[in-house]
Amino acid sequence: MSIKIGISACVLGEKVRFDGGHKASNFCTQQLANWVQFVPVCPEQAIGLGVPRPAIRLQRNAQHQIRLVQTKDTSLDYTGQMLTFTEQLLPRLAQLSGYIVCAKSPTCGMERVKLYDEQGQNLGKVTVGLYTQQLMQRYPWLPVEEDGRLQDPLLRENFICRVFSLDDYQQSMADGFTVGKLVKFHSRYKFLIMSHNPVAYRELGRLVASASLFKAEELSIRYITDLMQAMQHIATRKNHANTLQHLQGFFKTVLSPSSKQQLSDTIHRYRQGFLPLMAPVTLLQHHLLQHPNAYLSSQRYLQPYPEQLGLRA
Ligand code: SF4
Repeated sequence: MSIKIGISACVLGEKVRFDGGHKASNFCTQQLANWVQFVPVCPEQAIGLGVPRPAIRLQRNAQHQIRLVQTKDTSLDYTGQMLTFTEQLLPRLAQLSGYIVCAKSPTCGMERVKLYDEQGQNLGKVTVGLYTQQLMQRYPWLPVEEDGRLQDPLLRENFICRVFSLDDYQQSMADGFTVGKLVKFHSRYKFLIMSHNPVAYRELGRLVASASLFKAEELSIRYITDLMQAMQHIATRKNHANTLQHLQGFFKTVLSPSSKQQLSDTIHRYRQGFLPLMAPVTLLQHHLLQHPNAYLSSQRYLQPYPEQLGLRA
């Protein structure tokens, strides 16, 4: 298992929460664990806060700085310790292809984390956990998702698709980035990008075409950041159907009229919501076996992650 995903240790079932409990996610421990290697981190435990421990929260001070403080005694400020810890840890996480964080935590939450003022007034769910904020700032291309949001089938599929795509990019460039490798990679991702975001599909194409204007490292970072951002858009049924029609076009001279009609009908019924995505994709794969086409076979769209994850069903 080459894919490494960072994860809040409590989401993996470790009893490291402030109350001595955990927040195990069945999807992570029972399904995803078969395909990836998890790298568990509990930042609060790592900075020496015990288990159990007093609750902590994010507080905005008079200078509008956000501090990580103990709820019952706000003079106990852990901000410096947490920032030092993240500064030391993050360079060692460059190989991760994704990160699953525990929702709502003042340390690990990805969004909608509660913020308080110095008088203890709740300012709303308006901020990000301190550790995760540093993580996302250092690796803006890294797919990050919360345990709770992974219960949503569309968000789950989207996250997994990004993770496997990022891993593929990292593997492709493992022994050094070159424009040639980028062109090959982008060529394999055209239809997958199109299904997520047709506008970004054109913009990424323009970026690759103007590769000579950039320094290698700058281009690599810009491409993978833009790609991951584009793929964050949920691939809608409409965009999938349009992408499938583009793929269908490759078979127009080789299929019989009845096979063409069957493929059109399957895509149409998928578009209308009567069939899962697997139905037209399986039919296309079947035709591809009968009528080999190296360019189409290389398209990641046809299998962006292991089928056994059941995300397209
Ligand atoms: S949310 Fe983060 S800091 Fe809190 S227990 Fe889980 S891993 Fe530890």
